[in-house]
This record gives sequence, structure tokens and C-alpha cells, in this order.
Amino acid sequence: MSDVYVFEADGDQFICCKCALRENGDTVTPDQAAMVEHLLRHREAGHLVPEDALDELRAEAAELGRAGRTKD
Ligand SMILES: [Zn+2]
Repeated sequence: MSDVYVFEADGDQFICCKCALRENGDTVTPDQAAMVEHLLRHREAGHLVPEDALDELRAEAAELGRAGRTKD
């Protein structure tokens, strides 16, 4: 279970769908690292964010940091 739903959009953006930190709508971040920061703010607000979601984003951010943007 999770209080957040994050998915990857075109152009390396990440979307926090129906973001609970907003009045209405989604939060978009330019990359994984920014989405990790965003999800940590959800946690501070008491929302349930699965650790493996954070781990996955961190792993992808580290991968991109090493290899450059090679996806697609
Ligand atoms: Zn959010």
C-alpha cells in the first residue's frame, strides 16, 4: 500500500499523480533525484511512501549519474 503514485513520463520527467501535497493535480519533477526529494516531503507530511519506491528512484538516479542519460 502507498499514499503516492509515481510514474515516469516522456522526457525523463516524473509525475506524482494526484499529489496529496497539492490542492489538486499532479506534481512533476525533472528527474529521479528531485522526485526522491518530493517523496521525502510526503513522508514528512505523514504519508505512506514505500521504501522500495525510493530505492528504485535512487538506483536510477545513481545509474544516470554514472552512465549519463542513455535511456531511449
Ligand atoms: Zn506528491
